[in-house]
Amino acid sequence: MTDFEGLKALVTGGASGIGRATAELLAARGAQVAVLDLNPDSVEKPLTGYRADVSDDASVREAVAAAVAGLGGLDVLINNAGIGAQGTVEDNDDAQWHTVLDVNVLGIVRTTRAALPHLRASGHGAIVNTCSIAATAGLPQRALYSASKGAVLSLTLAMAADHVREGVRVNCVNPGTVDTPWVGRLLDAAPDPADDGAALAARRPTGRLVSADEVAGAIAYLASPLSGATTGTALAVDGGMQGLRLRPA
Ligand code: NAD
Repeated sequence: MTDFEGLKALVTGGASGIGRATAELLAARGAQVAVLDLNPDSVEKPLTGYRADVSDDASVREAVAAAVAGLGGLDVLINNAGIGAQGTVEDNDDAQWHTVLDVNVLGIVRTTRAALPHLRASGHGAIVNTCSIAATAGLPQRALYSASKGAVLSLTLAMAADHVREGVRVNCVNPGTVDTPWVGRLLDAAPDPADDGAALAARRPTGRLVSADEVAGAIAYLASPLSGATTGTALAVDGGMQGLRLRPA
């Protein structure tokens, strides 16, 4: 239980879902953890919440500075805040594209830019980005979201190359369908009322959704010294959604 003993971590979007499970797991493993979120009021001790909008550079710079000062340094950055979008290229207008790319892609750029000097100073910095199987899967009705996560994947690889000689590792996780409030919102918006949680789970290879704790476990591994030789990788946490073909071709 001591993988993160003495380490200081920052989790964006850590007030809900995957980010919350990750922040709680890192804290349980001995890290000091700060959470950056639009809605930090629900964040409870031992986590410390800071209000930040990752689509606003000044807000990110202020919150990262406050969080790093509170932690007394930074070893781990989890870029997890993200928003969804449904539809084909005909369904989302330019404003929606700008909004989603601003949060999902530029949000990572802004937070990383503010955190990098501290991660370098740590001597063993680790960044984990929450990407998605949408980055590579060709999912229907997800043009904008998939493009944003495709950018997160490429950004992860480029950042890994840029900072490897500075002792900063950069990896991402590619979750499948994860049981968080996000999926509840998706189901609420589904055009077919029969498309409920049970139907969604039944279509997964495992017959169930991925849990937020399972994604948190993968993120924690990539953030921890246990993965010290791993950088520039994407770890699927999708219950076999991408890798398995259950029916013969
Ligand atoms: P969630 O909605 O439960 O949590 C997202 C958190 O991010 C919330 O606390 C929200 O307040 C915060 N947030 C949103 N916009 C923000 C902003 N501009 N600035 C700061 N914080 C902001 O969602 P989740 O399912 O836990 O998703 C987390 C990440 O996982 C996202 O990047 C998402 O794309 C990715 N993901 C989710 C799934 C899934 O099925 N749930 C699958 C693949 C990838």
